[in-house]
Amino acid sequence: MDIAILHEGGRKVRITAKEYSSRFGARGGRSTWLTCPECGQPVVTRAMTKHSMISPYFKHENDNPVAWGCPNYRAGSESYTWAESLPLGEPVDL
Ligand SMILES: [Zn+2]
Repeated sequence: MDIAILHEGGRKVRITAKEYSSRFGARGGRSTWLTCPECGQPVVTRAMTKHSMISPYFKHENDNPVAWGCPNYRAGSESYTWAESLPLGEPVDL
């Protein structure tokens, strides 16, 4: 998915994956977290590095049964597997 809710310092703002990538990069924001605008479940970031071959996007956690019923789950670019989204040679934090 392209849009998530960024929780930052008690504020909640909508943010696109591209905005998130340019603000925080692959390491993410300190003391921030992201949730899905549809189901409110946590989402993670993918393809946030500058070297990524595909556009950055947000993704539900695969092992979250609540997210499986969400309209955004595996919709659009979320259908990439994590392996496809990782740029070669980049360190992986799983
Ligand atoms: Zn969702």
